[in-house]
Amino acid sequence: MQHRITLIPGDGIGYEVSLAATRCIEACGVDIKWDNVLAGSDALKETGELLPESALASIRKNKVALKGPITTPIGTGFRSVNVAIRHALDLYACLRPAKSYVGVKSRFKDIDLIIVRENSEDLYAGIEYEEGKPETLGLIERIKRDTNKVIRLDSGISIKPISEFASERIVRFAFEYALKNKRKKVTCVHKANIMKFSDGLFLKTARQVASEFSSKVVFDEAIVDNMAMQLVQKPHNYDVLVLPNLYGDIVSDLCAGLVGGLGVAPGANIGSDMAVFEAVHGSAPKYKGKNKVNPTAMILSGALMLRYIGENKAADILEEAVKEVIAEGKLVTYDLKPDPSDPSAVGTLEMSDAIISKIKENL
Ligand code: NAD
Repeated sequence: MQHRITLIPGDGIGYEVSLAATRCIEACGVDIKWDNVLAGSDALKETGELLPESALASIRKNKVALKGPITTPIGTGFRSVNVAIRHALDLYACLRPAKSYVGVKSRFKDIDLIIVRENSEDLYAGIEYEEGKPETLGLIERIKRDTNKVIRLDSGISIKPISEFASERIVRFAFEYALKNKRKKVTCVHKANIMKFSDGLFLKTARQVASEFSSKVVFDEAIVDNMAMQLVQKPHNYDVLVLPNLYGDIVSDLCAGLVGGLGVAPGANIGSDMAVFEAVHGSAPKYKGKNKVNPTAMILSGALMLRYIGENKAADILEEAVKEVIAEGKLVTYDLKPDPSDPSAVGTLEMSDAIISKIKENL
């Protein structure tokens, strides 16, 4: 069966890592027709828009996209093109696995965590009041009236909305993911003791959803600051974590750090009927065109994509090939060498060639 998938190469190191990923995916024998669309700085040059409607339309049509990292230039009206894509397509679940690979320098072995981050609300909703503006002063006055709390007049304010609707669907996503992938435990991470009406609602909703799964998946709760400490001390005690947007962003980078950093951290943004797969790392502009960076995160995002479209065998082959190349430690990029200045480190292209050779051996 042929799959039609939107490919957004991105910018900065995006072209190199996207090319590496598409070549490795195709080597697994999956029949894919890529619809190549621009977003980011190249789209801005060609179309005058950072996020052309044609890019979103292609994803809406194909329902699946593989996306390279995109730089968000300052002063273009976008906080982040990446966040704008997630919002425009209501990709409410951000899935970030953090898995140990033999050969990747890290403090721990055998970590296998799944971070499920709510993607649509919380402090990332983009509702902000600038210091000194009349509407900000009006809000400060209103808050004094309603709550008798005093906010300094020279404050900026960011709003943190958390709804029952969005909490319900993200926690349900985490439990369904756990069931489907034979995971044992879901931990809800929050700060409900302080933010009773936002995080408190997230936790209360999580408990309700958890009760539906209680015979199959264990439910656990953790306060986010304690969770940060537990994760760096005893990461093996955890399995699937579900978090509101901001904590999810921070904790998923923490977990990427536990398993060796951004070079090996894949991700997916999933909605009710479509998904965009992308590495956790950004466009690292200083490495653009240098054939230097690690393609693993983008290739592993491709493996997540293959599972999403039902190509599980190809995903297994792809992950196994990545695992073997990293474990051998020869044909790997600088960041996977014990000494990053090791002259035997290879480039993005050569590492992806090594992965393709393994795929061909294992097919
Ligand atoms: P970054 O992830 O691009 O780079 C940080 C550092 O991490 C790099 O300098 C490099 O040392 C290392 N690194 C990143 N990817 C690597 C790889 N594949 N292999 C080896 N080392 C790697 O983060 P940044 O510098 O904060 O952001 C640069 C731009 O990327 C910004 O414009 C930001 O908005 C954007 N960004 C995009 C995404 C996305 O597209 N999803 C995500 C994060 C940041």
